[in-house]
Amino acid sequence: MYSIHNHSTFCDGKNSVAEMSNAARKAGLTHFGLSGHAPVLFENEWSIASVEKLDEYFAAIATEKATGGKTKILAGLEADYIPGLSYPFDFFRKSYQPDYLIGSIHLVSFEGQLWFIDGPVEGYDNGLKTIFGNDIRKAAKAFYNQTCEMIETQKPDILGHPDKLLMHNRNRFIKHDDPYLFNLLKETLMLATEKDIVVEINTRGIYKGLHNDYYPGQYIFPFLKENKTKVMMSADGHDTSQIILGFDKLHSLIETESLIEFDIFRL
Ligand SMILES: [Zn+2]
Ligand SMILES: [Zn+2]
Repeated sequence: MYSIHNHSTFCDGKNSVAEMSNAARKAGLTHFGLSGHAPVLFENEWSIASVEKLDEYFAAIATEKATGGKTKILAGLEADYIPGLSYPFDFFRKSYQPDYLIGSIHLVSFEGQLWFIDGPVEGYDNGLKTIFGNDIRKAAKAFYNQTCEMIETQKPDILGHPDKLLMHNRNRFIKHDDPYLFNLLKETLMLATEKDIVVEINTRGIYKGLHNDYYPGQYIFPFLKENKTKVMMSADGHDTSQIILGFDKLHSLIETESLIEFDIFRL
């Protein structure tokens, strides 16, 4: 078993790189990766604070890599793509040679304003109202446009939580299978598949009780099967207790739905 989408105290996680790595060894994982939120070009409370801090981050993981044992430790990043406000992914590739990059959208940029879809629900609702005039389709279009632009221009190895804009929706503004919304997700995942980008299936919404399905939800599994999209299980763990939460159930679902799991041994 592997788990390579995880956070530590270098960003918004609760445990150190060493504590997280030890938990992975104790759980008997074959591969364990840290994917700290990469720095962005503005101050915030959730990312690795600065490019200078990144040196420390990769050094801490290098120490764990050198520790040995049966669990292979990997050094990754979860990088945001926010036009004009994030570093090019190639900057991280060239400067730090990470083992992989997860590309995720947490903030949607629209006409000079930012909609934070992954913060408190009040901010989500407020942004939807003030930036998009409560037009959820317009907001979803902006979210998926930005995701597609990230796929095209930044080429992440893995696409993070592709339909996370549904987290605070909670069936209030739109249904997950609304044809307009469903098509935007399909187009995005099709593009990722064409570019040979792995699509993660993220269990965090379920175990945190914030969402009733994975990101992306089971409603898209037949499409992933049909298009032979490579998928990866992800817990998005922010502490040692979360590194493989929900994986047993998700793994059997991946098997029964005949999804193609990516080859962790290529990393
Ligand atoms: Zn994320
Ligand atoms: Zn994450």
